[in-house]
Amino acid sequence: MTRPETVAAVAAAAGLAVGGWFYAALYPTSQIFGRVVIAGDDPAEVALTYDDGPNPSATPQLLDLLAKHQVRATFFLIGDSVRREPALARQIAAARHLIGNHTMTHPWLSYQSAGRIRSEIADANALIEDTIGAKITLFRPPHGARRPIVLHTAREFGLATVNWNIITHDWRVQPPASIVEKVRNGIRRNRAYGCGSNVLLHDGAMDQPRTPTIEATETIIADAKDTGMRFVTPEAWV
Ligand SMILES: [Zn+2]
Repeated sequence: MTRPETVAAVAAAAGLAVGGWFYAALYPTSQIFGRVVIAGDDPAEVALTYDDGPNPSATPQLLDLLAKHQVRATFFLIGDSVRREPALARQIAAARHLIGNHTMTHPWLSYQSAGRIRSEIADANALIEDTIGAKITLFRPPHGARRPIVLHTAREFGLATVNWNIITHDWRVQPPASIVEKVRNGIRRNRAYGCGSNVLLHDGAMDQPRTPTIEATETIIADAKDTGMRFVTPEAWV
């Protein structure tokens, strides 16, 4: 190779390596940095997972809706928000929803030191377990971002790491119908692949009403019941 070709080849290899790292660290279903729970192989199963709560402006309304339809969901709670809203965290647990660890302050763990990763996971675990009086078994890294030490540290605390296979971008303002459409498309795709559906939604962050997410949830539940889907939690897939 000529020198420019060599430089180009090295740059291309570096680009692939960087691209590979981003895929492994940030692609929600990637298993390269270690096992991440996504879904099982029963296409009739669907898990509704709500992140970033508890949020007094949205979580109570969501709990009412889930209770009305007798659907059990999963809530990945932020430790700082649990400290501000302990009664609401206990209300989620009392309604028999599954509660998981979503770190103390919601940083991108792929870029944090080993010490920070440990304290984010450990502090949230201790606080949530003390608050609800039950053991936590699931962990969802903020933004789905991880590297091997994140998964390793979670395992040390007895936590299985859970991501998703349907993303709705519901943290951006959009009509409920747009959230519903993404879920319908995702479920159709997962059924074609022969796997269950793990839907990422948000009842947090703090003080946002999340009305489109709550309205979309009502339609997602009606759809799922019409098509014979069963609601599960990701514990079924660990
Ligand atoms: Zn989050």
